Amino acid sequence: MNRRNFVKNSLLTAGSLSLPLRVEAIPTGSNDRGAPTKNEKFKIEYIRNSIPDFEIPPYRGGSYEDSVPDTLDIAERAELCINCLTGNTDERADYEIYEVAEFDRNPPVMGHSINDWLKVNEGMMEGLPLLRIASGSTLGDQVDPAWMGTLLKYIGPDGLPYLPLVGTPWSRLYPSFIQPLWRADGAATDISDNSVTQFTFPALWPRAIAAMTIYNLRDQNPLWRQTIEGMIQRMLQLVTNEYDYSFFPAGSYEPNAKLTGPGVCNVMPTGVLAMEHGNGRLIQGLAQYYRVTAYEPAQELAGRLVKFLRERAYYYDAEGRFLWSYADINPSPFEAEPFGGSFHSHGIGLMGVLEYAAAVRDRGLLEWVRSSYEWARTQGSSLVGFRPEYALHNWARCETCPVADMVGLAAKLSAEGVGDYWDDLDRCARNQFAENQLTETGWVYRMAEQMPKKPVAYNESADRVVERNIGGFGYPTANEYGTVRAGCCTASSSRSLYYIWEHILRHENGRLSVNLLLNRASKWADVRSYIPYEGRVDLRIKQPCESVRVRAPEWVESNSPQVICKVNGMSRELRWDARYAHLGAGKAGETFVVTFPIGERTVKEKIGGRVYTLVIKGNTVVSIDPPGKYGAFYQRAGYRESQARWKKVRRFAPEEEIRW
Ligand SMILES: [Zn+2]
Repeated sequence: MNRRNFVKNSLLTAGSLSLPLRVEAIPTGSNDRGAPTKNEKFKIEYIRNSIPDFEIPPYRGGSYEDSVPDTLDIAERAELCINCLTGNTDERADYEIYEVAEFDRNPPVMGHSINDWLKVNEGMMEGLPLLRIASGSTLGDQVDPAWMGTLLKYIGPDGLPYLPLVGTPWSRLYPSFIQPLWRADGAATDISDNSVTQFTFPALWPRAIAAMTIYNLRDQNPLWRQTIEGMIQRMLQLVTNEYDYSFFPAGSYEPNAKLTGPGVCNVMPTGVLAMEHGNGRLIQGLAQYYRVTAYEPAQELAGRLVKFLRERAYYYDAEGRFLWSYADINPSPFEAEPFGGSFHSHGIGLMGVLEYAAAVRDRGLLEWVRSSYEWARTQGSSLVGFRPEYALHNWARCETCPVADMVGLAAKLSAEGVGDYWDDLDRCARNQFAENQLTETGWVYRMAEQMPKKPVAYNESADRVVERNIGGFGYPTANEYGTVRAGCCTASSSRSLYYIWEHILRHENGRLSVNLLLNRASKWADVRSYIPYEGRVDLRIKQPCESVRVRAPEWVESNSPQVICKVNGMSRELRWDARYAHLGAGKAGETFVVTFPIGERTVKEKIGGRVYTLVIKGNTVVSIDPPGKYGAFYQRAGYRESQARWKKVRRFAPEEEIRW
């Protein structure tokens, strides 16, 4: 098949396996079983109604007014993301999220489906406390206990979390994705079968484990560890063990499901199904839990799943290059184009393997992830951090999920010392990742008004949709935000915002390292970044540091005499070690001012099949041509000035940070 037809057909069928991009509108009245009126609550039939008590400790830290250069501020972006996580929820359904927001509808709507919880809400549960640590924001904090309570209400008698199918009229939308459903008597059915009232799915588990691991780190309540370990014990009963690897059969499970019936051993998922049915995704949650608690069963199961993913799933080659699978998109370019496939499905698998390899200190496995990352960074554009939804040349849409995965991989590989990808991370954070976050409302309403009016369906809401979705991430192109805010992308990005924030600086054994030159408050030092207005970063030291080092930005050479440091106005001699300038010891109250050159360049870059002319100052794109229309990117003329603009902010320096 020629490339043009392939791409065209793929675009038509891309949603067939991945989560649907759009919630299909079903007119009010056609199927509104049990929908309550505006202020009534849905009567959701959870598997468990009585749950243990828990409390949410306050997010402690110093909060103060400050003036900072008006440059990228991840803490500010974290609060915007909290706006979407908590605002894009349905109070009538215990703050269940709306998985998708559609902006090219009149009026704009956000819609529920089974996908709300399938993989997305758990990801947001992992992200929300992390973003509160980074920002100190209490915005929408009625949602946190509601989500935590819901997660506990999901826990079934066998230890796994079960999604209720009774009580919300959208719960059986899109059942095909999670077929078959294994029953307690060993038979198989699917969730359109009304005799099924609760089900679970391995892809649900990892980020539920991640969220509860964070809750436990914050409150030390043994409840969370008991719940996670109960989940893992039940997984060990369900898992299929072969030789040195393990997997969960494709599909979803009723409580007390039996996976011993005829045919089960024949449904080992491969290719994209190995990820999307949960096996590959599960590695990360288990590895995170093992890293924090040293719980051996988590490590053993994660290790056997890693073996399965690398050696049996036909999803990566020996060097870690991504492989297409027949189920990826239809028709698949499998034979003509062996390398590629869903970027996010591969990316999140790599995140799991990396987390596991770091937890067990497996150098060979870390190298395999690095090799895979090296291949992945050739897909899309590493100049701006554009990652296509499918690793396929000229794919126009950038799903934020793989962008977020690559952010996490770059941060963790660099922090582990396996590679130096801070520049990849810096370029992505300042450009595609930052632009993929919705920060304005006006253009959305202008776009929506041009569309023909369409009724709001029973599973949708048109109530302040755009305002409630500010801070969310979606499927943009290289030059505009476009039409959709996606739940998966917002969930993935919530924790990647934290990964960036966490890795801007690190304080270890009295040594302060600044890896990324971005605004950041911390209890050890505050960073003011003037980039890209000026080549300058200030460090205000708050706790004595035996040594302070700053990584040079990409466009500045190591040992450059143009890098100058002054401490309280006095010149300070630099010592270089690879890309880091060592600035000596820092006393509380001192201000380090580091200056270096910064300039503009104009480059042509093919991104998503289209050639753009970019003006880049430092690493920051300040103009793109041709420009976008719907949520145009890089409206950054102000950054071309040579003196920083300033803004007043409330900064938050958390007392406790979580290594995540
Ligand atoms: Zn996504």
